Amino acid sequence: MKASQFFISTLKEAPADAEVVSHQLMMRAGMIKRLGAGIYNYMPMGLRVIRKVEGIIRDEMSRGGAVELLMPIVQPAELWQETGRFDKMGPELMRVKDRHDRDFIIQPTSEEVVTDIARQELRSYKQLPKNFYHIQTKFRDERRPRFGIMRGREFTMKDAYSFDRSPEAAARSYETMFAAYKRIFDRFGLTYRAVAADTGAIGGDLSHEFQVIAQTGEDAIIYCPTSDYAANIELAEAVAPAAPRAEPTVAMAKTLTPGKSTCADVAAFLGLPMTKSLKSLVLATDRLDEQGNPAGSTVWLLLLRGDHEMNEVKVGKVPGLKDGFRFATLAEIDAHFGCKPGYLGPIGLKQPVKIIADRSVAAMSDFCCGANEEDYHLTGVNWGRDLPEPDLVVDIRNVVEGDPSPDGQGVLAIERGIEVGHVFYLGTKYSKTMNATFLDETGKPAFFEMGCYGIGVTRILGAAIEQNHDERGIIWPASIAPFQAVICPIGMDRSAEVKAAAEALYAELQAAGVDVLLDDRGERPGAMFADWELVGVPQRIVISDRGLKAGTVEVQGRREAQATVMPLAEAASQVG
Ligand code: ATP
Ligand code: MG
Ligand code: MG
Ligand code: MG
Repeated sequence: MKASQFFISTLKEAPADAEVVSHQLMMRAGMIKRLGAGIYNYMPMGLRVIRKVEGIIRDEMSRGGAVELLMPIVQPAELWQETGRFDKMGPELMRVKDRHDRDFIIQPTSEEVVTDIARQELRSYKQLPKNFYHIQTKFRDERRPRFGIMRGREFTMKDAYSFDRSPEAAARSYETMFAAYKRIFDRFGLTYRAVAADTGAIGGDLSHEFQVIAQTGEDAIIYCPTSDYAANIELAEAVAPAAPRAEPTVAMAKTLTPGKSTCADVAAFLGLPMTKSLKSLVLATDRLDEQGNPAGSTVWLLLLRGDHEMNEVKVGKVPGLKDGFRFATLAEIDAHFGCKPGYLGPIGLKQPVKIIADRSVAAMSDFCCGANEEDYHLTGVNWGRDLPEPDLVVDIRNVVEGDPSPDGQGVLAIERGIEVGHVFYLGTKYSKTMNATFLDETGKPAFFEMGCYGIGVTRILGAAIEQNHDERGIIWPASIAPFQAVICPIGMDRSAEVKAAAEALYAELQAAGVDVLLDDRGERPGAMFADWELVGVPQRIVISDRGLKAGTVEVQGRREAQATVMPLAEAASQVG
């Protein structure tokens, strides 16, 4: 590819809404272009990376015995009504109507459609196991799309679905996919961890998330450095002993009595000055135990200030609220304020509270954003850049670094991750509700044992950049870089020798199968180098008159501090 033919559009500054480095760098490198909230154009430079990611995925899915098909983006609602997800899924599911007023959805995933295919096409146990996958556009109307394409509303996912005759066979399919995922993430050249995840209603231990390790990750992952134990925070907290910690709010839940403790008690406990405006404190949780303490691990502390008219009037009426303090469920608060369940609208959090929680930040922001996108005061560990300093910091973690690991093999460590893949044993959840059966060896109909396996194709780009960048730009792992090498001729328009040498090397590298770009734009060296450092091409070859006089060129890896001067004749083999 020649730069003059390709499309290159780099920026000096990232847009203000780009909070994380991957979003900033992808915008600056011209890889994506925003069209609407969580909706992006994949520009030519970014699309090349996406295609490489897809190529590796296709390769390894095929090695793992999965077969590719392509299911529609727009799907009839009937199938989704069969499983009940049309109603159950809530606002994340994009519903649309056609001209005849018939309901459709824009797929967030494809269990229904693939199960429909299976119940029609897979009739006998002899056709099993079967694993269908596609790489397709997804739409999820995320409450808070952010971080560029890491949490988009429209994004690309690889989703695979396995069909088996028995739970044992399904477990083998799961293992096969698990191994394929390891090969895929190894080939991407990313540092990742496969962590156990909750299987919810299905039970069993067959669900894992593949998490790319990154400081800015929305997920917390818990692992034991001296054993194989690794789990996402939700699962780790679910199995953690209920013992309260000495300091954090979990202890507060034990010390203070719901419905009895006063606002002043809470303030004293927290070491807060009891100001006039601090009228009420509500600890909100999604579940209460029989004693009225928050069950589970997520506790939201709401400070409702007296200067907020609505609160002053209404808080006093919260049942059991004495002098402004009690534990309440989110549902109770919703009901109290007369808003839709899950809405939590008019609470109007006016007091910023920093909550330290390893619980998914997304879960917390889901709650906070209920108020109003502008009024986003409550946040998890990603304390917003432009928010005022919190008046109060509360630690509500249930699992902390140094806790004994559940397998008794050491102590726990915590790191942050970005969920890039998820493998899940579904059992007969979908086959039963959709009556999808095959004939077993005895000729009797049996429900398919299913598994589903997702990879966030477009999210991989963001995750790779979070892990691989420096102050000059992106550092793509070679396997997914938009170009493997760039030839930078200096003074190509002036020097016939430079032009000839650049074009000869370009032809040689192309012939050798190297994905090479020749920068024939005639940019000044500084601007040219800055562009390719920003874009993150792994290898750069500089050809100049001065070098050619000595028969040499300069080759520099993106991570190297200095170029290596080498004979022109050796450059191709060095890069290839
Ligand atoms: P998250 O917890 O980040 O919301 P999820 O658990 O809802 O993700 P899955 O249903 O497991 O996502 O989908 C499979 C994969 O699709 C995820 O592991 C992730 O890599 C990717 N993915 C999910 N939501 C998005 C999104 N909004 N933007 C980009 N990729 C996404
Ligand atoms: Mg999600
Ligand atoms: Mg998730
Ligand atoms: Mg998931």
